[in-house]
Amino acid sequence: MDNPQELSLASRAVFYSPEESTQSISYPIFMSANYQYDGDAYDQVVEGARRSVNIYSRCGNPNEYKLDDQMALISGATDALAVASGMAAVSHAVLGLLRVGDHIVVDLTTYSSTHEFFDHRIQDFGIEVTFVDSADVEAVRAAIRPETKAVYVETIANPTMKVAPLRAITELAHERGIVVICDNTFASPIVCRPHEHGVDIVLESATKFIGGHNDAVGGIISINSEILPADWLEQIRWNTLTKLGGALSPFNAWLLLRGIQTLPLRVERMTENAGRLVEWLEAHPKVRRVYYPGHPSHPQYDAAREQLDSPGAMLAFSVASEEEAAQVCKSLKLASFAASLGGVRTVTQLPATMAFLDIPEEERQQMGVTQGMIRVSAGIEKIDDLIADFAQALGD
Ligand SMILES: *Cc1c(COP(=O)(O)O)cnc(C)c1O
Repeated sequence: MDNPQELSLASRAVFYSPEESTQSISYPIFMSANYQYDGDAYDQVVEGARRSVNIYSRCGNPNEYKLDDQMALISGATDALAVASGMAAVSHAVLGLLRVGDHIVVDLTTYSSTHEFFDHRIQDFGIEVTFVDSADVEAVRAAIRPETKAVYVETIANPTMKVAPLRAITELAHERGIVVICDNTFASPIVCRPHEHGVDIVLESATKFIGGHNDAVGGIISINSEILPADWLEQIRWNTLTKLGGALSPFNAWLLLRGIQTLPLRVERMTENAGRLVEWLEAHPKVRRVYYPGHPSHPQYDAAREQLDSPGAMLAFSVASEEEAAQVCKSLKLASFAASLGGVRTVTQLPATMAFLDIPEEERQQMGVTQGMIRVSAGIEKIDDLIADFAQALGD
């Protein structure tokens, strides 16, 4: 294939060249920590060669490189770097970018561990943080200081499904030479490719939609930026990843690469199920509110229509109380009551008493995380079975 860039996303996801030495269609797993300095490898390393020579798996391995290339191809990125987890993607990108004395503007509503990283840990590195509601571009503008180096948002934020206006934020930031980082996990590259809206650094927890089967943990950092140097991610690999140590194992890279092949198909079906579930929930007497970027009641409905290819597989709804919400989740039989998301099976979670439990009540309120809220990651089951399961769980 001469120019895979020209293929549609579904074809790009499924296609890759066979492994050179074996012509194996399934890319083999190179389960090796160490590589021999054979032939001219030693001389090449001495001369400064890096990615072209395998040295040691923490610095990179063939499975990780293959995953990097596929992720860049489906994300509209110029370069991608796969790491050990979504949180490794967050920490390696942020700590790789910022220095002592720098300031970062962060959306108030991010993944709970991300929020805690920005709220409690990053100050230890001499980096200052201001939290804002990034749906309000004026609030982002007001938070910017001379020492601001980055703005951090999520494409679709947990659990209210808030959509950040990416184009407006990147224009505002780029005028001032500020880098925009966007966690695209809830969308996946099928629902949104933030690089197409000007975002410099995109992060994914590949554990979720990309892997898609609740088996492998992994993360991706990708870039497409006019502000950052073209070799920025290679610098992150050599100066941050190899020092902080968040390398991805070859086996997990293999599982995640396999996941990419069915990603478009899975997300399409999940999105269809999410839409049908929202429609059904909305008409249910016990449901007080639904949260879904594809629903006209969504506060950023217009931004969602502009930036998202589809409204995606993530939704939330609220019932009268946290007790009732817990009862619903515990009563589901087909859908799992669990922490994670993005897999083939439908999963429900209670944001207020699970992911956000350690965050003080007042802060939770500001984030829009309220009692009685149930988050749903729609799976690929037959929709009739899913609706029947939610119906029995809601006591119909
Ligand atoms: C899960 C998640 C992460 C962290 O990813 P891990 O792979 O669990 O480390 C980061 N951001 C978002 C939005 C997530 O959902």
